[in-house]
Amino acid sequence: MAKKDDCIFCKLANHVIETDYVYEDDLVCAFKDANPQAPVHVLVVPKDHYDNIVDDVPADVLAAMVHAVGEVARACGIDESGFRVIANTGEAAGQTVMHLHMHVLGGTRLGEESMGSE
Ligand code: AMP
Ligand code: ZN
Repeated sequence: MAKKDDCIFCKLANHVIETDYVYEDDLVCAFKDANPQAPVHVLVVPKDHYDNIVDDVPADVLAAMVHAVGEVARACGIDESGFRVIANTGEAAGQTVMHLHMHVLGGTRLGEESMGSE
């Protein structure tokens, strides 16, 4: 199981540092974003370290992440109202934490400015 010692999301996803968890299974964790951009802003994070979505991520990890998105949406009550899923990939896309994660954003009407265009 590959972890990176100096990676904050490795620590959060593996309970080395505790945070506000919304969902967890064997492969992934979901926890609240520290700087929320919407009323619901949760990060889905694999327990193993991958830099981003094109870092040879195993299919079972990708499937677990997508499954977790649905679990988060239901747990946060945004599965029917609608939500947005974003995986910023690389510096030019605004990825600031270099451990693969998906943002789940909802709980309001999202404008085009939410997590993206400037
Ligand atoms: P990105 O810009 O796509 O890499 O997203 C990184 C996200 O991680 C940002 O939305 C930050 O607010 C969030 N973040 C950074 N550190 C923490 C932390 N310790 N706990 C929760 N969220 C964090
Ligand atoms: Zn990591």
